[in-house]
Amino acid sequence: MKRKNLPYKIQCNVYDNNSGADMSVRVRCNRCNEIATIQDSVEDSAEFKTLYCTCNNHECGHAFVTHLTFSHTLSPSALDFTTEMMGKLRQMNRQQQRELFASLT
Ligand SMILES: [Zn+2]
Repeated sequence: MKRKNLPYKIQCNVYDNNSGADMSVRVRCNRCNEIATIQDSVEDSAEFKTLYCTCNNHECGHAFVTHLTFSHTLSPSALDFTTEMMGKLRQMNRQQQRELFASLT
């Protein structure tokens, strides 16, 4: 388990291929909906992280814990396949790929 002190807000910059937008992941307070600051985090596993947050709304001041979890794979990592397997997957259209991976879960 890794513990990491985070003095600033976590910004997970995710590039959206459809809109080209920079999508930042932010935590919002569940009491007032203001953006919260992640004060600390514990990486319980590669798929589960505990975030210790405080609300940025000074009139609220809510301190809370939330979790960041992996849900499921939409498109497999290229690291999980051999070059030959990746070549075969690339020959399939998106629907065929989805059906293949849906049958595996
Ligand atoms: Zn709040």
